[in-house]
Amino acid sequence: MSFTQRILLSMLAGMIVGIALNMVGSAIPWASDFLVNGVFYVVGAVFVAMLKLMVVPLVLVSLVCGVNAMGDLRAIGRVGAKTFGLYFMTTAIAIILALTLARFFSPGSGFELTGGLAEYIPREAPSLAEVLINIFPENPIQAMADGQMLQIIVFALLFGFAANLAGERGKPIVKLFSDLNEVILKMVMMIILLAPVGVFALISRTFATEGIEVFGPLVGYFILVASVLILHLVFTYGLILKTIGIKPLRFLKHMRAPMSFAFSTSSSAATIPITLNTLKNRLGVKSSVSSFTVPLGATINMDGTAIMQGVATVFIANVYGINLMFTDYLMVVLTATLASIGTAAVPSAGLIMLAMVLGQVGLPVEGIALIIGVDRLLDMLRTAINVAGDSAVTCVVAHSEGALDLKACNEMEVKKSARDNSGSFE
Ligand code: ASP
Repeated sequence: MSFTQRILLSMLAGMIVGIALNMVGSAIPWASDFLVNGVFYVVGAVFVAMLKLMVVPLVLVSLVCGVNAMGDLRAIGRVGAKTFGLYFMTTAIAIILALTLARFFSPGSGFELTGGLAEYIPREAPSLAEVLINIFPENPIQAMADGQMLQIIVFALLFGFAANLAGERGKPIVKLFSDLNEVILKMVMMIILLAPVGVFALISRTFATEGIEVFGPLVGYFILVASVLILHLVFTYGLILKTIGIKPLRFLKHMRAPMSFAFSTSSSAATIPITLNTLKNRLGVKSSVSSFTVPLGATINMDGTAIMQGVATVFIANVYGINLMFTDYLMVVLTATLASIGTAAVPSAGLIMLAMVLGQVGLPVEGIALIIGVDRLLDMLRTAINVAGDSAVTCVVAHSEGALDLKACNEMEVKKSARDNSGSFE
């Protein structure tokens, strides 16, 4: 059985066990105490911790190597501009799609506001100025200790570029980083071996704790968000991939591993090692591009999150009977696109930034309480889309830089001989 098949099987088994435990949970209390809150919780948390452990070293080291491989400042600027442009464009399309469909289907009209739901205490979302200032590190060690991705990216870009400028004296440093890169990739491969068990634990715990009953009044909202996510995946990404000659279905097939990881962990950041590996070994993207675009995308490109925010805004406005004007919709497009930058790539971060979007158009932030029940599952879905979006844009940027092996992308299976020796998940 291939690696991806094992992951998909773990997910399926996790769902079945989780739903079964959810149904018998109250009758057999030890099952939830010992399994759900004991074994599954510990195994899942350890697995996510191990994945997260790799993110900072992997991003730092591979980005320094990538910048070096890109060479001059102009190439870096060009790749940066294309990446930013495409990330913003796809996020704006995502939110416009979400708002248009939400306006059409009008989720939340006729929703009965019941007292029990309104328990959400909003956490304060950072201001836009803060988000922008926070991109620049004051202290690289602090940035790494706090896992501040954008700050790490800025530091790595400067460092890699400076190593290049330093000429002969910089060469040993570059060599050290490229050796380190190999070691870190091997570590990632070791951790990934735990994946089937980790994924099983995460999924079964989620399904065991999320009861079906939360869906009742929110079915319409849930289905709408899920449908827009799928539409965006199929049409927006499908279209941009087609324009560069990648078959969308092949792309999806190659993306099964990172997308199922994103689904299981609800964290684009924790999925970075898998995304990088897949882009390199299955889609034939050169690391010099992906080591820049993927960490950046995991941090600032969240199309799935923007879709949830668009639908949620219309849903909450409908429930509270507030009429949104055209200018409000424009405001939502703008704030949700910018909120993407400030949304941390961890579970449920999108809900915190939703507070910022709602605040901008004068909607009650407590409205978030209405949708929180189904957000856990939507978080899984939207994180998978977030990761697919990062990868689709990466392919387009790599293609324009001559750093994409189009044949590899469109191949059904990976030919091992055609890949480097860092291993891929087969
Ligand atoms: N969990 C999402 C991610 O990591 C962020 C969010 O929408 O909550 O990509």
